[in-house]
Amino acid sequence: MNDKKIAIVGGGISALACAVDLKEKGFNFTLFEKENSVGGKLFTERIGEFTVEGGPDSYLPEKIWSVQLIKKVGLEGEMLCSNDEHKGTFIYSGGRLHPLPEGVMLMVPTMIMPLVKSRLISWPGKIRMGMELFVPSRKDLKDESLAEFVTRRLGRECLEKIAEPLVAGIHTSNPDNMSVLATFPRFVEMERKSGSLIKSMVAAMKKMPPQNPLGAKMTYFMSMKGGMQELVQGCVSYVGAERIRTGTAVVSVEKKESGYRLTFGNGSTTDFDAVVLATPAYVTKEIIGDMDEDLCGRLSAIAWSSSATVSIAFRKEDIKKPLPGFGFIVPRVENRRINACTWSSIKWAKRAPDDTMLVRSFVGGGHHEELVSFGDKELLAAVREELREMIGISAEPVFFKVYRWFQGMPKYTVGHLERIAAIDEKREEHRGLFLIGCSYRGIGIGDCVKSGFDAAAAIAAL
Ligand SMILES: Cc1cc2nc3c(=O)[nH]c(=O)nc-3n(C[C@H](O)[C@H](O)[C@H](O)COP(=O)(O)OP(=O)(O)OC[C@H]3O[C@@H](n4cnc5c(N)ncnc54)[C@H](O)[C@@H]3O)c2cc1C
Repeated sequence: MNDKKIAIVGGGISALACAVDLKEKGFNFTLFEKENSVGGKLFTERIGEFTVEGGPDSYLPEKIWSVQLIKKVGLEGEMLCSNDEHKGTFIYSGGRLHPLPEGVMLMVPTMIMPLVKSRLISWPGKIRMGMELFVPSRKDLKDESLAEFVTRRLGRECLEKIAEPLVAGIHTSNPDNMSVLATFPRFVEMERKSGSLIKSMVAAMKKMPPQNPLGAKMTYFMSMKGGMQELVQGCVSYVGAERIRTGTAVVSVEKKESGYRLTFGNGSTTDFDAVVLATPAYVTKEIIGDMDEDLCGRLSAIAWSSSATVSIAFRKEDIKKPLPGFGFIVPRVENRRINACTWSSIKWAKRAPDDTMLVRSFVGGGHHEELVSFGDKELLAAVREELREMIGISAEPVFFKVYRWFQGMPKYTVGHLERIAAIDEKREEHRGLFLIGCSYRGIGIGDCVKSGFDAAAAIAAL
């Protein structure tokens, strides 16, 4: 048992992953969460027989750290594959839904015929995408926006109809100022190494092992049988509720001769040897404000977007048209009030009773963000109007639920990696202080979990 006394501030998935790893390593730690329950963005509600996700509904097993965490807390048997017999992404364009052409990997076409047959992209657009093979590559290491990168390599139409809606759905931000280096470093590397994304992607697909390296059956998106909160509960059970203080906001951290002093919302203080701040950067800067103004300033440079999810249950018999794939995404150029829509009860098993359909729409996130502040009924009305006009769902809801995420997602804008390097440089002056979570090196659950594991490893190496 290591006798260092450690504080983890925040109770999101990054913090929980760190706690699980510290427990496994035998450390003495306490996790402090401001709210009355942990999980942060991972929030699942059971409403009657419905399982409704407020935040993320899935993790990518490709980012192996989520699966590692699930295994550590003994929930392997609770992993849930998506219902891939219905798989498919559709794009709303020109008043109808188009399937994302088969073989398009994120934004890169890897098969000719499906793209040729697609009615989503015009002929000049298709030819421009194919020309990617001959576009000279940039060799310098300078960052650029995702919009510039995609337009340069694959053309404007690919950006507007494929890349932007796919990416906006993940990052809830605008490709015009998103850093390509911070969000899609793999594409930048492909360009540098082989000169073409298409060439690299086709080669990578040929090399892909036929079987999943992780052993168990996996789909591209995975969830938990009881919803993502099941992972939160698994982490809590593993670390032990006695190590978790909910309803306990940390307001400041002060550097002592050896270690750190935390001050809590009620004015009390406690000293620790090491502190892991797993709060969003805009909270972290408040906590460390008095200790290091320069670091605080560097943290302020990270911008945030707000979004909301609106889950609506309908009776199946009231939905007149079949709903294709797992849902659809909406290009910004369409100027609609929803960005994406998932048929939750088609994508995942056991999300709704058999005679109903659970539909989840996304609003805000760098596009019509004012909607996030609408009242529930107003927001429901806006979403229903869009569902009616766009895909003909005019049924009365059985129930609905709105979840708002103000400043919920960091925007990795151009220059993000330089800003993170500047934060790291300053943070390194404070031995035993760690900053983790979605603000820095990846917004997805897998990257957040990795940041927690990395902090635990760094603590072990102190
Ligand atoms: C709507 C939505 C859908 C998403 N979908 C997906 C998806 O499908 N797949 C995916 O991989 N990712 C998804 N993401 C992203 C992912 O969920 C988040 O990036 C990730 O969960 C963030 O985890 P975190 O630990 O960094 O922070 P958070 O979850 O934000 O946790 C931070 C915690 O700190 C606490 N806190 C704040 N201030 C204090 C304080 N002063 N003292 C103590 N505690 C404090 C907060 O209450 C919170 O619990 C989605 C995000 C959103 C908003």
